[in-house]
Amino acid sequence: MDFQIHNQHPTIKNVIMSVQQRQGLLSKLAKEFVRLPGIGQKTSQRLAFHIMKVDKEEALRLADAIRDVKEFVVFCEQCRNIAESELCDICQDPERDRTKILVVEEPSTLHAIDQSRGYKGLYHVLMGSLSPLDGVGPSDIRAQELEARVRDGGVQEVIVATNPTIEGEATAIYLTKLLKPYGVKVSRIAYGIPVGMDIEYADDVTLTKSIEGRREL
Ligand SMILES: [Zn+2]
Repeated sequence: MDFQIHNQHPTIKNVIMSVQQRQGLLSKLAKEFVRLPGIGQKTSQRLAFHIMKVDKEEALRLADAIRDVKEFVVFCEQCRNIAESELCDICQDPERDRTKILVVEEPSTLHAIDQSRGYKGLYHVLMGSLSPLDGVGPSDIRAQELEARVRDGGVQEVIVATNPTIEGEATAIYLTKLLKPYGVKVSRIAYGIPVGMDIEYADDVTLTKSIEGRREL
């Protein structure tokens, strides 16, 4: 029997082509997912298959939400928090203490801190941290913008809340040297034992940091 699919059964050929194309589209989606932070190969494939399985309406709602965020949400010109206009809600809030600026690496950290409601000052998002090995220097984070805010006056204290990593610590040291000449107080938040946790279960870095960050009682 002679199967000349290409010549005699164009419809079968089309179906085969189309399955291959569809698989290609699916792996294209998976490749986009794997670019997201915290998503590995397996999860990206699971997500791509999930999108394929759900209703068209539900999947397009996700696509619309992504498009809306990119079209209508911008970064605050002053602090780089997410905003819907030139300045974010926090920078526009007259109730905020403008003598304090709390510095974080990412907007997500700003939100975590602000939701805790323990801080009522302003913020500054660096959009990263110093990492010479990865080629990230002072001009790649928003350090100059922070310096300009301090230079403009009115700021009395800069609280550095970069992550307790080598990069975060290097950034904190750099910012301290950068801002001290302006006569502002530069402080580092204390990293310590989580409330409710037994001290014996804390890791070495947490223990060291909690002792370093001790304050007088
Ligand atoms: Zn802002």
